[in-house]
Amino acid sequence: MRIVIKVGTQVIASKNGLDQKKIAKLTKEISFLIKKGHQVVLVSSGAIGAGLPSVPFTNPHRKKIAAAIGQPILIHDYYREAKKYKISIGQILILSNDFTNPERFKNLVSNMEAMLSHKILPIINENDVMKGEDLTIGDNDILGAKVAVGLKADKLIILTNQNGLHTCNPDHNENAKLIKEVKNINSKIENLCSVDKSDLGLGGMISKVSAAKYATSHGVETLVGNGKEKDIIIKALGKDFPGTRFIAPASLKPRRTEK
Ligand code: GLU
Repeated sequence: MRIVIKVGTQVIASKNGLDQKKIAKLTKEISFLIKKGHQVVLVSSGAIGAGLPSVPFTNPHRKKIAAAIGQPILIHDYYREAKKYKISIGQILILSNDFTNPERFKNLVSNMEAMLSHKILPIINENDVMKGEDLTIGDNDILGAKVAVGLKADKLIILTNQNGLHTCNPDHNENAKLIKEVKNINSKIENLCSVDKSDLGLGGMISKVSAAKYATSHGVETLVGNGKEKDIIIKALGKDFPGTRFIAPASLKPRRTEK
């Protein structure tokens, strides 16, 4: 199976920087899947979260500086963990025109496929330092969806700090119920999303649902779940997923010609 996993800042970072234990656990799960023969691409946020503790001054470029400092820290942590399982990782930093320029897009897809065919784990983030208003993708949820669609992936798994989409915001309402399955992302579903965003990452539940809408409309099933839950990725591949499954119509499922 070809799987794109997106990990949000809230899952792997706090105000003090990256959570080493969480990165270790996620990398272990991903390495296990690669060893079982799955092709995995990781879209990981966390660069700004990793870098901010090293930027204690105020500056209009503070987040860019944090991203520049944090990206190598983030990648190094994944590198160190993946090495324990003899898995190589490769870093890819993306801007929006990597999707819109046909030649860049072709390079992106073919280079990722080449890595996957050798069991290398591509780790993608938006190129935060180089993006301006013009080249911004928006957030890593939509980036993950675009990568999943570009690679004709079987599944997109979005890991966040919530258990999935709820009937109302679970942070403010104890009666909020998890919606286990969504067949059609209509305005009723979109209106359930809270507009609350995290301090360190972008996104929020609304961007998870937009990403799921894009991916499922191109035939890629999308699962949104809690990145802090044990073995969440493995659970996402099974029947009993403790999050929200956004179903993609079987007729839209992209066909891949495996190389
Ligand atoms: N690219 C940002 C980072 O690595 C996060 C963007 C997002 O959360 O969507 O910190």
